[in-house]
Amino acid sequence: MDADTTTVDARAVDTLAVHAGREDLAGLGLHAPPIDLSTTYPSYDSRGEAARIDAFAATGEAPEGPPVYGRLGNPTVARFETALAQLEGTESAVAFASGMAALSAVLLAQHATGRRHVVAVRPLYGCSDHLLTAGLLGTEVTWADPEGVADALRPDTALVMVESPANPTLAEVDLAALAEACGTVPLLVDNTFATPVLQRPVESGARLVLHSATKYLGGHGDVLGGVVACDEAFARRLRQIRFATGGVLHPLAGYLLLRGLATLPVRVRAASTTAAGLAARLAEDPRVLRVHYPKVGGAMVAFETLADPHEVIARVRLITPAVSLGSVDTLIQHPASISHRIVPEDDRTSSGVSDRLLRMSVGLEDAEDLWRDLDQALGESLATPVPRPRVQALDADLEAQLTDA
Ligand SMILES: *Cc1c(COP(=O)(O)O)cnc(C)c1O
Repeated sequence: MDADTTTVDARAVDTLAVHAGREDLAGLGLHAPPIDLSTTYPSYDSRGEAARIDAFAATGEAPEGPPVYGRLGNPTVARFETALAQLEGTESAVAFASGMAALSAVLLAQHATGRRHVVAVRPLYGCSDHLLTAGLLGTEVTWADPEGVADALRPDTALVMVESPANPTLAEVDLAALAEACGTVPLLVDNTFATPVLQRPVESGARLVLHSATKYLGGHGDVLGGVVACDEAFARRLRQIRFATGGVLHPLAGYLLLRGLATLPVRVRAASTTAAGLAARLAEDPRVLRVHYPKVGGAMVAFETLADPHEVIARVRLITPAVSLGSVDTLIQHPASISHRIVPEDDRTSSGVSDRLLRMSVGLEDAEDLWRDLDQALGESLATPVPRPRVQALDADLEAQLTDA
């Protein structure tokens, strides 16, 4: 059974989601992918192992056969990498312990070439912003508007980084125009929010596609992971960094992520339909000042309300008040307090992350049930927002008195 890759690549995203990374299973007499928890791999041929280690050290090419040691690679994780690469339309993908480990590996790989300068477009996920701004890996960052990226490039620019739709404002960037502006500098697109179901950044000219796999790829709020989809040349450098710095994805996480991919298209489409409906209702609601919903679609909605956002968070009952996103259940959080707290206040506000902004990750619940919860959480319409202490929101009678007043 030889897999014809050209046929595989031509398959639709729904088909790839359930078959990619599993092509050999039927031939092995298996249906579910096996989980390989080995940390080490026995071999009676040390000369052969020496040659395999030399080859990996020199090239970063994944060794043929067993991986020698768990930090070099893992067969279960490799299935997830193969599947994600096919979904994103790239040659390869390299998985890491988290989204931040994946971004760190990209920065380390570029900094090792002597280039420490990164041009980035705000907003980014709070910790990505922090990693670049704080210079924890020796990065020097220039923040630019998408139109200003070309002018911000320098001979030592390692990378241009953007999120589209961005966390948490859902701002979108014209990726093809941006890729053009980058010239030969690699463009990294964090595609966590759109997923390959809605957008494949390499088709617009991005060289690197990053995911916090913790979000939609896993999809059930029970696994941390990160992955970079890219060409094989860059993947080899990332594998060398991963081997030497150790930010590997655990095989059980690899299994769960592969399993998550199978339902990615149906989850993303179903949640997006509900999210678009809720965004439309919020946009018409007098208690809501502004709604952000991206053109590409997706299951994220951001909005600013007349009511104190802390009060809205305190009042949700069906929706879970929690950071993170991309799970089967709906989550809501206040970026200025949580996901983007680590970004300096001025930088937060100037990139559109206002203190009023709430970010909601819509799940798979019934749309009417979600709306009823949002409706009661938004409270009564008030001409002027009244700052109320959190405890009062828990007292329904007091709440009613206040809002009637
Ligand atoms: C959560 C997130 C990250 C970081 O991923 P972790 O898996 O939490 O390390 C990076 N980018 C975006 C857009 C995110 O939402």
